[in-house]
Amino acid sequence: MKPFVKFKEDKQGTTLMFLHPLAVLVMFDMANWCHSRGIEYVVTDTISTLKKDKKLGRQHSGHRDRRSFDLRSWTFSEKEKQAFMNHYNTKYKEIAQISSSDLVSRLVVLHGEGDNEHFHVGLHPRFTVNY
Ligand SMILES: [Zn+2]
Repeated sequence: MKPFVKFKEDKQGTTLMFLHPLAVLVMFDMANWCHSRGIEYVVTDTISTLKKDKKLGRQHSGHRDRRSFDLRSWTFSEKEKQAFMNHYNTKYKEIAQISSSDLVSRLVVLHGEGDNEHFHVGLHPRFTVNY
């Protein structure tokens, strides 16, 4: 039996227990979209700490607020990347993070360049988990 969601490292699977439930719902919904199109779906990062964010040079708190996760993007074609972002930025507009650059709600954005490129998926700060 194949798992619904694959993680870059198996031990990351346990971090699901700490994520906001809506982030988990979105993660599995996105897996479904990808599986139906034959796109490999890999979660590369989920929750974080301030120490880890500083090390990575992250400018936002989404991962340590337990409302964000990252996805591998190189398994998508350029056309699939656009279709994926268009679909999910419309579907979950009401619960999406706000882009700091233009203040538009976008659930999923492409971050990084070259080998570092990935999808960052984030819920609005009102879904911050701080307990
Ligand atoms: Zn991220």
